[in-house]
Amino acid sequence: MNRLYIIFPHCYIKATSKELLIYDTIKFSSIYMRNIAVPYKAVNTLNQFGYIDDCDDNKSILQKIAYKGFGYFIQPNKSMPYFPKRGLQIMTSLNKENKALGHNLASYTNMMLKSITFLLNNTLSINLNSFAYKQLEYPNVNHTEIDIDTILLQLISFDLERIVLSGEISCDKLERILNLAQTRNILVVFRVHYLAYPIQHIQDMLRKYRTIMVELLIDSATPLDIINLREERLILKYIVTNNSDLDKLTGAKENIVLCPIFLDEKNITLQPQMVITKDEVLKINQNLKDCYLKDYINTSYFGNITINYDGMVYCVNQQIESLQNRDLACIINKWVGSQDCYWYFTRNKKLECKDCALQVLCPSISIYEQLKIYKCPCRV
Ligand code: SF4
Repeated sequence: MNRLYIIFPHCYIKATSKELLIYDTIKFSSIYMRNIAVPYKAVNTLNQFGYIDDCDDNKSILQKIAYKGFGYFIQPNKSMPYFPKRGLQIMTSLNKENKALGHNLASYTNMMLKSITFLLNNTLSINLNSFAYKQLEYPNVNHTEIDIDTILLQLISFDLERIVLSGEISCDKLERILNLAQTRNILVVFRVHYLAYPIQHIQDMLRKYRTIMVELLIDSATPLDIINLREERLILKYIVTNNSDLDKLTGAKENIVLCPIFLDEKNITLQPQMVITKDEVLKINQNLKDCYLKDYINTSYFGNITINYDGMVYCVNQQIESLQNRDLACIINKWVGSQDCYWYFTRNKKLECKDCALQVLCPSISIYEQLKIYKCPCRV
């Protein structure tokens, strides 16, 4: 029998027909081979069980892995040793339920929803369009009041951790949501443009409600006294639409988060700043659990949905269904079982990334890719 080379269990392995990554999740070192031909059998044994045969077909690949010391040789005599399958083993009854009942039980799928974003009112006229608002997860200009009380009643059956209120909302509605959130230990994030309320109102709100966190959208026209504001639970999100916006932000601004925003698909001035190279991807430090999770789910959006002011339920850019047709529990339950559920949209399902071995080290698929601003983080 051939000798086998066993990769250490703490190393994450991704083999495709053209590339191979072995990533040490303790030392954060890696071996990455591209433009190679990985034999079909080696792709399977590496991905599934973490070993490779010491045979002529695998010679050149094996030499490089063994030289870097990512594992060890064994010599089985008569039968193959037992190799447990690598990756996440998820214990769930969802598939069985689906087969037996034809649908999943809502009591389980409700537990998957962790965060809801409400797109509320937006009465401002500023220099942004609907394409930009999508990237910011902020409502389009509208004066329609969302029926939030009806939706709040439906939330009782969910195990929520966070509610994001994006846009303008009346004080009494905000108070009702905060009271509900407080009794159930839910974090409320209030995302709002700095022109929507006097800044004193935001500061009073932060002091009055200890369970609220404010994401204040600012831009290059924002007065300095707001840019320099320091408050507990206040994050300033700086909208960057071109390079000169960046130049206007001088000095260290540790509480400011940069938000690159494209006004249309053709405006490519910010693309070079957003693209990351494969070498940069390889420098990302990630633990084994996160590697396996990113093989299975879109970690940026899993458990999140958005409800528009007109009652339409979305995830990222994917329209799911209107709350006018059925209740939230039914919508989530049906969608979770569907092929195109965005929570499971991982890089191994994306055409541009399918043959790349760096899938789990890269950021999860984002709104920028969904809006076709760029193909993927390493390519425009
Ligand atoms: S974006 Fe896709 S192709 Fe580029 S490095 Fe990441 S996984 Fe590979």
